Amino acid sequence: MTSGTKQGLLLGRALLCAAALSCAGTGPARADEQAPMTAPSLPIVSDARLAGDTKQTRFVLDLDKPVAFRAFALPNPYRVVLDMGQVSFRLPTGVGVNGRGLVRAFRYGMVMPGGSRFVFDLTGPVRITSAKMMEAANGQPARLVLELEEVDQAAFTEALNQDAALALKPAVPDAPPLITPPQTVPAAKPAQPVDPRPVVVVDPGHGGVDNGTQSGSEAEKNVVLAFGIALRDRLEKSGKYRVVMTRSDDTFIPLNDRVKIAHDEKAALFVSIHADALPKGEGDAQGATIYTLSDKASDAEAQRLADAENRADAIGGVNLTDEPTDVADILIDLAQRETRTFSNRFARTLMGEMKTSTRMHKNPLKSAGFRVLKAPDVPSVLVELGYVSNKGDMEHLVSDGWRSKTAASMAQAIDAFLAKRLATAGPSN
Ligand SMILES: [Zn+2]
Repeated sequence: MTSGTKQGLLLGRALLCAAALSCAGTGPARADEQAPMTAPSLPIVSDARLAGDTKQTRFVLDLDKPVAFRAFALPNPYRVVLDMGQVSFRLPTGVGVNGRGLVRAFRYGMVMPGGSRFVFDLTGPVRITSAKMMEAANGQPARLVLELEEVDQAAFTEALNQDAALALKPAVPDAPPLITPPQTVPAAKPAQPVDPRPVVVVDPGHGGVDNGTQSGSEAEKNVVLAFGIALRDRLEKSGKYRVVMTRSDDTFIPLNDRVKIAHDEKAALFVSIHADALPKGEGDAQGATIYTLSDKASDAEAQRLADAENRADAIGGVNLTDEPTDVADILIDLAQRETRTFSNRFARTLMGEMKTSTRMHKNPLKSAGFRVLKAPDVPSVLVELGYVSNKGDMEHLVSDGWRSKTAASMAQAIDAFLAKRLATAGPSN
């Protein structure tokens, strides 16, 4: 990188769909289409394959109709991101696990309502030499073809800089909006009656292109979503809180957006839900662990975990260089210090309740530099429900009985913490 300044790399190497090809009507599904009974049909992606070698690699996607798309490269680590309007994935299982040529592996999923994404992990720097959408012809389905070519690092960086400059101008004047704006970060809501109840933000980790850890066919993103929904339902039943989910479906949400939701909602509490896995060959571990934010990790395992969880944005194809950096502001620092005291208090309360219903890790309270816990003004904890790498934990994680019992004890802890907090401090807003 030439300097530490923010470079508009997010749009780097943006290649809008070829102007020669009509993209109209192939963008994101629109709610206003005339289909009162059935949802508008999304383009179906039926196959994805790689060809070529370590000099030139081609990616081919089969669809039932053309879609608007763009592709761009990202550094650190080297990736190519392919964004398109929302599609329905009907790909063979295991596709993308093993790469070919310049592509080490790829993954795909919904990245926001109305938008789908492929993320390619690369073996090194590449240039996107061509990106084309071809309409169905001669019995062949519509195809999206990406051509990648090996380049050296200098050429890669130069291309990114050029694209950053280009991205400041509209690339194609009449290009349709590729993806509807994310609905996960709530905009100012028009004249809704003010709900005075404290807000609890429930944050199921990962989602969409980011599976989290994996054990057999069970991905962390699904396990934690099921738990998050159970916790939400439990909390809502009491009527005492307004519960906001950072995601309630299989959508990728960048880490900063999760933090922003907590901040914008003036949340009284933020609870991030995850499940851990021990790397192969590192023995076995079991039980739930509750993490709070700290500058220095409480132990090596906490550091490893924070590193893994903080990688979510790279996995999801968010460009970290484009994200606002932490503001080293003294006021934020002070707010954060107070917030951390409350976070630690909640973590202890939570441990006391959870151990009555579920197996805890032998050191159940830890801390590390989790990015998702960095809202300066919202007490935040991250709960690793257990280890998907442990057979006993895994049986719990997929069990309805365990889930409802554990969500109930979590809700109990939230009640106890907020009752005390709100009695002494008044509502946070
Ligand atoms: Zn996780």
